[in-house]
Amino acid sequence: MTVDLPGGGDLPCAIFFPADYKIGMANLGIHYIYRALRELGVSAERFFASPSPFRSVESDTMLERFPLVLGGISYEPDVITFAKWLELAGIRASREHRESSPRARPLIGAGGALTYINPLPLSGICDFVILGDGTETARFLVRVLRDGLSREETLSLLAEHPSVYVPSVHGSGKHSLVTAKNDVSEDYGRSTWISKNSVFKDTLLLELQRGCPNGCRFCTLTGCFSPVRVRGLELVKRDIEEALRVAEFSRIGLVTPEAGDYKYIGELLDFAEYMGKGVSFASLRVDKLTERMMKALAAGGSRALTVAPETGDDSLRRKCGKYFSNEEVIGKLEMAAHEGAKSAKLYFMIGLPGETREQVMSISSLCGDVRLKTGLAVTASVSPFVPKPGTPWAGEVFAGEKKLKVLFSLLSRSMGGMSGVKLRAAGIKEACVENAVSWAGAEASEYIARSVSSGISYKKLLQLSDRKETEAELSRLGLEFPHFMKGGA
Ligand code: SF4
Repeated sequence: MTVDLPGGGDLPCAIFFPADYKIGMANLGIHYIYRALRELGVSAERFFASPSPFRSVESDTMLERFPLVLGGISYEPDVITFAKWLELAGIRASREHRESSPRARPLIGAGGALTYINPLPLSGICDFVILGDGTETARFLVRVLRDGLSREETLSLLAEHPSVYVPSVHGSGKHSLVTAKNDVSEDYGRSTWISKNSVFKDTLLLELQRGCPNGCRFCTLTGCFSPVRVRGLELVKRDIEEALRVAEFSRIGLVTPEAGDYKYIGELLDFAEYMGKGVSFASLRVDKLTERMMKALAAGGSRALTVAPETGDDSLRRKCGKYFSNEEVIGKLEMAAHEGAKSAKLYFMIGLPGETREQVMSISSLCGDVRLKTGLAVTASVSPFVPKPGTPWAGEVFAGEKKLKVLFSLLSRSMGGMSGVKLRAAGIKEACVENAVSWAGAEASEYIARSVSSGISYKKLLQLSDRKETEAELSRLGLEFPHFMKGGA
């Protein structure tokens, strides 16, 4: 652990992350909410979808001993995983079913990245949803729960907080809910644990910034997570020093939308080097990549680089909001190879608004050129574009299963046989589910909760996920996105 936390406590609370332990331990939200609850004297314990979904990591305690369950929901498909997990644990995923049941039932809450974008997909499942940054709101939650009120009284008191959405109370009518955006100089900024069994092994996760100013048209980071809040260099250094006093780690993992945008990146890399620690970057904007950053990556033992050109076509990339060319991508990757990189993972999307077949094929040309000119082993990770609420491309069309199959097969034919280039395609079905859940409102969420045990029909879910109705529901809750982020700005 990188912080001293009290043991024991009251209010047994299960924190569930709907993925494997290794992935969950790379999610700072779980680190923060656990720390916040423990500091408040709550007996919080972690649960992960695998390897032991119904026993806590801390004490191997069965889930049924926890009267409070909090799901950490990052991505749209997590909503379905959460609902399935509840059903398998013998807890009805449907909030309405639980409300009408005479049996004792736990209080189900959720928080996490999805709540900044659209919390409605959780409304049919959760008794309450914590909107946005949750560490401050956790104090209010614990105070209310300690009052020992009835379930109904507890929920109506929770609904008085501007950042707690209580579907049974906020069901209709106009409200003024607000997604909490904490002052990052007062919030936590580093991981609670260093784990050998995490995707970021032996790494201190360190947060540098929330929100992103770049406004790429497909991305939720600008519209949903801003205003941009930067953690100062002194604060970040203090986190490293404090963690070093109590824990051992070999690397510092920089958690920020784009590491090259952090204005103190040079000083921070110097400090990490001085402390004898390597660095890894959660995400790198290729045009901001410097030799200094590459050297720091190599010192951290990494020879692999991950960047996101999004498309192989310069004009389409500009439409996406990324203003760098294929030439710059290749130039920066040449520099990376020179500094010791051996492989590059390139993220692309297909099904982008206005995209032509030639522009889809440009992905394979760019990958071929990178391979040829840099010698790096290339992995092209390609996923379908999913229009998200709160982005300038919210009103764009999702390509759909049929068209995506054609585009993927075109691409895989053109990349087949390319030496040193691998294609990793994201699941089309998964993208269809992601699209439907992104736009789910209360009715679609109720459908998920009621049918998760018998099987969810994607087509039905899509019919129920009405964009206009969801936007209207969000607006009734007070959760409107800034005007400039709407429809194809
Ligand atoms: S894609 Fe990257 S640079 Fe663009 S808005 Fe999102 S986080 Fe920022």
